[in-house]
Amino acid sequence: MKDVSGQPVQGTELFFVFLAIAAIIGFLYYVYIYSPKRMRENAREIAESEISQERTEKRRRESLTPTQRRNEDKAIAKMQTEQLEQDRVETETKQQSALNFRYGKKVAALVCPHCQSKGTVRRTAATRVTKSRVNSVAARAIGLGTNSEKSVRQLFCESCEMTWDVA
Ligand SMILES: [Zn+2]
Repeated sequence: MKDVSGQPVQGTELFFVFLAIAAIIGFLYYVYIYSPKRMRENAREIAESEISQERTEKRRRESLTPTQRRNEDKAIAKMQTEQLEQDRVETETKQQSALNFRYGKKVAALVCPHCQSKGTVRRTAATRVTKSRVNSVAARAIGLGTNSEKSVRQLFCESCEMTWDVA
């Protein structure tokens, strides 16, 4: 056997060529045949086990007395209600801490001047920048005009969602 330059091909070279071909065939087999087959088998096993669990559960329910069944239904309903309540509290807590971060803590005594609701107003420190205008064209050209920073207390009402500043 000779290679492209006409040199006789060495036995070791031939071995590595075969090795490379074997590796490519192995890879293609894994990707296109073995792996999809395994995935199909897994999906079937999961489906079968779900069906068998459903059957077992159905038989178990049928073996209960009507009273037992009612009690079980009540217990399940109670658990679901508790779970819903727990989720609601969790969501509420997350929302509150996000609002705390953005608008500050609620001040119980404050009454909103916009909607008159009490205990819904949050207060936080903020800085407002005001740019003073210079009327002369020349002064503007060299960048005159000052930015003045003012510290304010920013208020936010959770009830009417108004935001306003106080000095
Ligand atoms: Zn309000």
